Amino acid sequence: MSPPAHDVADRTGILHSHFARHRRETGATRLKRQTEPPNYGLTPFPNLAQAVGKMATVSIPQLRLRVNATAETLIRSRHPWLFANSIREENRSGRLGELAVIFDRNDRFLAIGLFDPESPIRVRVLHTGKPATIDSAWWQARLKQTLARREGLFDTQTNGYRCIHGESDGWPGLVLDRYDTTFVLKLYTAAWLPRLDEVVGSIRAALHPQRLVLRLSRNIQSSAKEQGPRHDGQLLLGEKPHGPLTFLESGLRFEADVLRGQKTGFFLDQRENRRCVESLARGRNVLNAFSFSGGFSLYAARGGARSVTDLDISEHALAGARRNFALNQAAPGVAVCHHDCVRADAFEWLAAKPVRKFDLIVLDPPSLAKREAERAGAIQAYGRLAANGIRALQPGGVLVAASCSAHVSAMEFFGAVRSAARRSGQSFAELETTGHPPDHPATFAEGQYLKCIYLRC
Ligand code: SAH
Repeated sequence: MSPPAHDVADRTGILHSHFARHRRETGATRLKRQTEPPNYGLTPFPNLAQAVGKMATVSIPQLRLRVNATAETLIRSRHPWLFANSIREENRSGRLGELAVIFDRNDRFLAIGLFDPESPIRVRVLHTGKPATIDSAWWQARLKQTLARREGLFDTQTNGYRCIHGESDGWPGLVLDRYDTTFVLKLYTAAWLPRLDEVVGSIRAALHPQRLVLRLSRNIQSSAKEQGPRHDGQLLLGEKPHGPLTFLESGLRFEADVLRGQKTGFFLDQRENRRCVESLARGRNVLNAFSFSGGFSLYAARGGARSVTDLDISEHALAGARRNFALNQAAPGVAVCHHDCVRADAFEWLAAKPVRKFDLIVLDPPSLAKREAERAGAIQAYGRLAANGIRALQPGGVLVAASCSAHVSAMEFFGAVRSAARRSGQSFAELETTGHPPDHPATFAEGQYLKCIYLRC
């Protein structure tokens, strides 16, 4: 099997490719194009004046859409996406990043969102419920609410975590991660590009970052060149870092390559599972498959693991793991733990007859289903991987199997791992299943990508 490239967007559940089935262009009727100023009273959207409140500010949304019954139900249930093929009418063509007001079939206000004329997710919802004016005070209040959700989650031993997690925090397609005094803003939709200065202004006022880096998902890098121009890895505030940045997670120091690394530089979403692995590691020989920069390994070492083996296909990732071990030699467990690295395809390495057995194995592969069509194959691959992992375990060993594929549900994934354990013929006990950490909330089905199961075999 060729190594699947890790698509960072999958870990946020904000992939365009999820929705290939929605790619059909909208069949919406274009209402007559209006000249300025719009005559709201005569438009087929009589309730607009009430809908947007005050009318004389530049932030008044002027693009109006009517949607079909299915979209109406979804938006009322707080689903954050309006697909192009759910739009029945639009008063004019919308521009990238403009605010669109969405109405139901009876002209009642439903929502306001960011419009993207190119994406099958035509509008990403910002606000539902009562009509509102989206102005700078509104953005500041939204950011304050989002940051308040993280209050009390982390002490001074953790200064790397997610401050804004896309749709589920009310910022569709936008992520903000903190690494000590550096912040990384990652955009997964071009609709934010025209609003970047406004967003940066709010972040600056609320968080006073020493440095702010812009990261762009692959699918929006060409539109970004035209807007600004903007590019992946661009510094928005502060100076270029001299060498790798470091930050603290649960008292361990890690490097983050914020300019070029995967995601925003580190897999912050696995913190809670790493803490769990630390508590299970004492005296064990640990294999960390798909290790990246050794996140799970450092916790296992501090937790008293006898040895830790990092297995990854990328030499760059393994070099990062070695540096992270070097950074944490002051932790007694890390200093005495035997650490080695294996550069190999983990699927093949585990499928071959195991050269040695381990007492704890972590399997955290990249997303195995980038699109819906790959779902069934991914479930099988998770099952095979778990079966091979179990084969490489000593009796009484622990398997920690994670999935970050949004297309594979928690039940499907847990099912695949449990049946691999049953087929192994060994008795096993399920210790735990976990989902999203609190700084990566998931409020809608497509946003639920992360799941992990712990089995003692
Ligand atoms: N567990 C990590 C995150 C894993 S990200 C953490 O806690 O930080 C997925 C990793 O899998 C990446 O480092 C990538 O290089 C690696 N990878 C991708 N395909 C692989 C393969 N076929 N074999 C081994 N490693 C692979």
